[in-house]
Amino acid sequence: MTLTHNPTDLSLTKRQPVGRFAPSPTGELHLGSLTTALASFCHIKSLGGMWRLRIEDTDTERCDQQFSEQIMIDLEALGLHWDGDVIYQSERIDIYNDYLFSSLRPLTYGCQCSRKSLAHYWGQQNGQDKYPQDSHKQQVAHQRYPRCCVDAELDWQTHKLRLQLPNHRIGFIDGIQGVQWQNPQHTLGDMVVRRQDGMINYILAASIDDGLQDISHVMRGLDILPLTAAQISIMHASKLPSIDHWYHLPLICHADGQKLSKQNLAQPIDTQHPSALLKQALQLLQQPSVDIDTPARMLQQAIAQWDNTPLQGKQALNGSEP
Ligand code: GLU
Repeated sequence: MTLTHNPTDLSLTKRQPVGRFAPSPTGELHLGSLTTALASFCHIKSLGGMWRLRIEDTDTERCDQQFSEQIMIDLEALGLHWDGDVIYQSERIDIYNDYLFSSLRPLTYGCQCSRKSLAHYWGQQNGQDKYPQDSHKQQVAHQRYPRCCVDAELDWQTHKLRLQLPNHRIGFIDGIQGVQWQNPQHTLGDMVVRRQDGMINYILAASIDDGLQDISHVMRGLDILPLTAAQISIMHASKLPSIDHWYHLPLICHADGQKLSKQNLAQPIDTQHPSALLKQALQLLQQPSVDIDTPARMLQQAIAQWDNTPLQGKQALNGSEP
């Protein structure tokens, strides 16, 4: 590192902490997504930072504007006010395509392999004629793409696009889960970043937006931890500023260990009693207790005493109703 002689050089000034909450509006907030919002809010505010809201609605089949609106109503009711304008990823498809066609271009290629043909390929690799019916979806998710199309120079407009992820270990420190090493090529292979119908992959859009929004602190659910090295390499290849601090929160689970999620019908939160809900969520996050008061005052107290320590090393928290 070269040292500058100019003490006012901006590169030496501390970066403003910026965090975010980035829900996919495929349903209403439940206790699991609420704790992610609350933890990222209290944590970044305890650092004197800004908290942004980004609606991750690139998956037009599963996302619904009604859910986006309800999420915002609920956040407001709980006093979780975001800074600046809300960003909708569905309005930013041109931006993601610009990155694909510029800085990411050397790493990207068109692909014509269908799920079925890949399942057949993997079946043969495993010494089977073909996979049993219905098993190919599951298999595809667990196998690395064999790069059949990497040199085929297929038309980008009419094919899905894959991104070549690096084949080496990337290390990063997670403020909750500890030191992590991931090889993105091993975990994801050459992942599809744009479907044939133009739909942009979640982690590509999130990486570009985290960079463009100058996010310094990412605090999110543990389910996204396996994608983090891929995100780091996408941000690097896109020449975007990197994330300084990662935190992957333990998942909120039912008593039987199953993650609370829309898929397994987690109850939407009810913000009719916002103070009781905040108290419950803070307890779940193992924070020091706060007095029941207005949401604004409870959050002030929660911010002042915010502490990541009780969450460290944990992968799950029990969110079952008492
Ligand atoms: N949109 C993702 C979700 O709702 C969160 C992504 C992120 O925080 O990076 O699960």
